[in-house]
Amino acid sequence: MNIVVCVKQVPDSTEVKINPETGHLIRAGVPSIINPYDHAALENALKLKKTYGGRVTLISMGPPQARSVVQMGLALGADEGVLLSDMAFAGSDTWSTSYALAKGIAKIGKTDAIFCGMQAIDGDTAQTGPGIAQQLGIPQVTFCEHVDIDGKNFIARRHIDGGHEIVEARPPVLFTILVPKEFSPRCPSFPEIHGSVKKPYHVWTADDIGAEKHYLGLKGSPTQVSRIYPPPQREKAEMFSGSAHEAAEHILAIMRKGQFIAE
Ligand SMILES: Cc1cc2nc3c(=O)[nH]c(=O)nc-3n(C[C@H](O)[C@H](O)[C@H](O)COP(=O)(O)OP(=O)(O)OC[C@H]3O[C@@H](n4cnc5c(N)ncnc54)[C@H](O)[C@@H]3O)c2cc1C
Repeated sequence: MNIVVCVKQVPDSTEVKINPETGHLIRAGVPSIINPYDHAALENALKLKKTYGGRVTLISMGPPQARSVVQMGLALGADEGVLLSDMAFAGSDTWSTSYALAKGIAKIGKTDAIFCGMQAIDGDTAQTGPGIAQQLGIPQVTFCEHVDIDGKNFIARRHIDGGHEIVEARPPVLFTILVPKEFSPRCPSFPEIHGSVKKPYHVWTADDIGAEKHYLGLKGSPTQVSRIYPPPQREKAEMFSGSAHEAAEHILAIMRKGQFIAE
């Protein structure tokens, strides 16, 4: 099986700071890591490769420094890496990002499965995976805890409210992967890092993947972020001690005062 894993470079923090004037992420001074969901997706893909054979290719879209996450994935065991890097991609929204990644994946060649993280810990939209599947016209199975292979098909254990469901899917198919409960991210050893330098690595521009420029970047993005702001600070919660009846009266009084209910 040929598996492509989408890996995004993200700031090593969920406390992402926003420039209030431009609305862009402030990345300066924040170390970058592989998106943890993508790390989990990669480990799942590598496990399938180890058990059943096949090939794992990484793809990332980002500035030149995003090479480090591709290189790390290669050191962890992927066979080949692709970085989509071009000023034309800058400022892309999730639709444009999905479009570019889908074009890159199509250029990689025959792909049986695409593994994405469920979401990126900076953008957090969880839209890119489904967007890629839509662009490529293939089915998608989202929120997967684990993906395995049974004969020619994939078997995914999918998280749903209050439990899980087992989904069988014929290739080609896209999965979005959760971080498993007991997941401890693996660090590559020095020999693995050293060996990864010799693995095939490509940087592709918008022209290389045959992308139409009017679908890329800020101008090609159908959504525009008009304003990004932190939610207002919540007032401190009030502690109340008393009987259940007194508590109910107290809550009613607050609701009347705030005119949430009539007198
Ligand atoms: C108008 C607009 C302008 C923007 N401008 C900027 C900007 O200037 N700078 C900026 O940093 N962000 C910008 N963004 C955010 C950027 O669009 C998103 O970060 C990106 O589209 C991915 O969305 P997400 O982070 O929500 O990822 P999600 O959809 O949550 O990611 C899900 C999965 O998709 C895959 N994936 C997502 N992105 C990538 C990627 N780049 N490479 C490989 N795999 C990926 C990963 O597997 C990931 O786990 C902008 C967004 C909008 C709407």
